[in-house]
Amino acid sequence: MRGLRLLIIGKQGSGKGTLCVQFAQHFGVPHISTGDAFRAAVAESSERGIRAKAFMESGQLVPDDLVMEIVDELFVRESLRERGFLFDGFPRTVHQADLLDATLAPEGVDAVIDLEVSTEVVVARLASRRVCSNPNCGAIYSLKSPPKSPWNCDLCGSPVVQRDDDREEMIRRRLDDYEAMTAPLVDRYEALGKLIRVDAALSPDEVFSRALAELLTRRLANETGEA
Ligand code: ADP
Ligand code: ZN
Repeated sequence: MRGLRLLIIGKQGSGKGTLCVQFAQHFGVPHISTGDAFRAAVAESSERGIRAKAFMESGQLVPDDLVMEIVDELFVRESLRERGFLFDGFPRTVHQADLLDATLAPEGVDAVIDLEVSTEVVVARLASRRVCSNPNCGAIYSLKSPPKSPWNCDLCGSPVVQRDDDREEMIRRRLDDYEAMTAPLVDRYEALGKLIRVDAALSPDEVFSRALAELLTRRLANETGEA
């Protein structure tokens, strides 16, 4: 049987990455963050990293064709069609969603979780967010919940840092792009009957249990975590 195909959408700072880490553990489905994939490409100065760098540093979206190159490659390398996936930060434009749906035709994705939270809450969260600098780890902390030995990652020991694009002026720009380019995806998946809205101002554990309960209701998962 194929694995669960889930998209997690929501503003920057809504908790997509945190929920994906919990879901990946629960379902054993790969967590695919296009942002992490791009940060890794930039860190290793690959050809794609070089093309993506200026966009990322200025808080802009990377062009769709470059995003799809990375996603298409991940589909093959990680056998995502069969294993399923938790996409974190993809799709982020209507065009990307069209291309993803074409890749997955005729079934498409199983469900889309929309993490809903106000702009004031996410601006405060992002300004205090700190992340593990190891691109293979991706653990997330904050000024309020630092790693046990500040500032080294609890999971891998790498330095925990502030992301370049988590500074106030860039945060505003990324949130404006979200409203213009990504928010329309909510209506698209709602019309398809695939949208699950979750209040993302709640604690991470509460967000996880509510999202999981919705998947159970829709018979997309069972208590043991098998999709
Ligand atoms: P955030 O959601 O907080 O902006 P991410 O880690 O998901 O952070 O992404 C960081 C950056 O990577 C984005 O600002 C953008 O430049 C680029 N990026 C990631 N995913 C996409 C995507 N699907 N489409 C376009 N750009 C993307
Ligand atoms: Zn780490």
